[in-house]
Amino acid sequence: SYRKGGYHAVRVGDQFAGGRYIAQRKLGWGQFSTVWLAYDTRTSTYVALKIQKSAAQFAHAALHEIDVLSAIANGDPSNSKCVVHLIDNFKHTGPNGQHLCMVLEFLGDSLLRLIRYNRYKGLPLNKVREICKCILIGLDYLHRELGILHTDLKPENILLFSSIDASKDPVRSGLSPILERPEGNPTSGVTSLIEKRLKRRARRAVAKISEKRASMGGTVEARKSDRNIDGIDVRCKIVDFGNACWAGKQIAEEIQTRQYRAPEVILQSGYSFSVDMWSFACTAFELATGDMMFTPKGGQGFSEDEDHLAMMMELLGKMPRKVAISGARSKDYFDRHGDLKRIRRLKFWSLDKLLMDRYKFSESDARELSDFLVPLLDFTPENRPTAQQCLQHPWLKDKDSTSSPNESSVEKVNVGMSNLKIKVGK
Ligand code: ADP
Ligand code: MG
Repeated sequence: SYRKGGYHAVRVGDQFAGGRYIAQRKLGWGQFSTVWLAYDTRTSTYVALKIQKSAAQFAHAALHEIDVLSAIANGDPSNSKCVVHLIDNFKHTGPNGQHLCMVLEFLGDSLLRLIRYNRYKGLPLNKVREICKCILIGLDYLHRELGILHTDLKPENILLFSSIDASKDPVRSGLSPILERPEGNPTSGVTSLIEKRLKRRARRAVAKISEKRASMGGTVEARKSDRNIDGIDVRCKIVDFGNACWAGKQIAEEIQTRQYRAPEVILQSGYSFSVDMWSFACTAFELATGDMMFTPKGGQGFSEDEDHLAMMMELLGKMPRKVAISGARSKDYFDRHGDLKRIRRLKFWSLDKLLMDRYKFSESDARELSDFLVPLLDFTPENRPTAQQCLQHPWLKDKDSTSSPNESSVEKVNVGMSNLKIKVGK
C-alpha cells in the first residue's frame, strides 16, 4: 500500500504544512489513510494528522470528508457537540503522489478498545448511559442541525476523550484515555492485527450465537469484569466521516458495517437518519453486554443477508409484511406472505429475556434497557425515535451510581501513557 497512489510513509519527526506540524507516532489507520499524532508548533498542542492515500478516488473521498467536517466545525464553534473537530487541511506531496491531509483534534482510544479492555464483559450500565448520551448529542447535532447521516456508526468510530485538555500535553496530563498502544502496521498483503482481532472476535460472537440458537437456556459467565473501569471519565466523540452524506443526497446503496446495518438497507427500500439510530441501538447493546447484537453468517442454502434478517426477527418479532415486501431486494428473501424463503423456523427470544437469561441482568435493568432499545429497532424506520427524542428517555436520567470512582484503576489505565514518547523536531 506504500506505493504510487497509496499511503504516504511517515517517519517520526517528519514535518508537514511548511513545518507547522511534526509527526510523533502513528495512532491508527483505515482503508484510505494513516493517522499520526503530531505536534502543532503554532498552537503548542497535539493534533491527529490524517494523511489520505494519494490516488484520485481517495483524494475525491477526502475532499468530501473535508466538506462534511467543515460543516460540522462551522456549526459548532464552541466544540461541544460530541463530534470530532477539523482544525486544518492541506496538501502534502511525497514520493507516492499528492496526499490530502486533515488535521483533527487529538482523541483517545475507540469504544471497541474500551470493550476489549473490559474483556468483552460489558461496561457498567452507568457508563453505558454516559456514552449513549454523548453519542446521541452528536447524532442530534448531525441529523437535526446539519442534515448529515453518518452511515457507519459503530464502537470503532467513537473515540474517547478527556475532559481535561489532553491536547495540551497528553503525557503529563496523564488523563488522555488511551488504554493501550496501537499495534501492528498497515502492511500490504498481510492482515493487520486489528483485522485479525476483529475476525477472532466475530468468530467468538458467532460461536456464542449458535450456542444460543442451540440451547435456549444457555448462559454466559457472570457479566462482572475483573477490570475496574469506574475511574475512567467516559466522554466520547463520533469520528470517521468518510462515508457520511447529506440527507436527500444519498449515493451509496450499501451502507453501514454489516453487524450495524439496518433492515431497510439490506432490503434496499431507501434510508434516512433512522439508519444511524439502528446502529446506535446495536452499539449500546454491545457496550452493555460486550457482544455484538447481530453476527450473521451465510449457511447452506441461505445468505448472510437472510440470516441477518432472521436474527433480527428472532429478537424483535416478525417483520410486518408491508415492510418486508417493500424493498428492491425483498423478493430475494421474502415470499409474498412476508415469510423468509429459506429460513423457515425462527426461535423467538425477546431482548429483555435475552438480557436476563444470557447476560444475567436483573429484571428491572433488563426491562429498562430493552424499553430504551426496542423502539430504536423498529422495522418501520419512520417509527424509530429521533436522537432528540431519545435524549428525553427516562433510561438516560441520572441514576445513583452503585460504584464510586476508583483511583487505582485510573493508574492502571494510564500505564500505557508512559510509553508515549513525544519527539519535537526542530
Ligand atoms: P479511515 O477513514 O481511513 O477509516 P479513520 O478516520 O477511521 O480513517 O481513522 C483511522 C484510525 O485512526 C481510527 O480508527 C483511530 O484509531 C485513529 N484516529 C482517527 N482520528 C483520530 C483522532 N482524531 N484522534 C486519535 N486517533 C484518531
Ligand atoms: Mg475508519
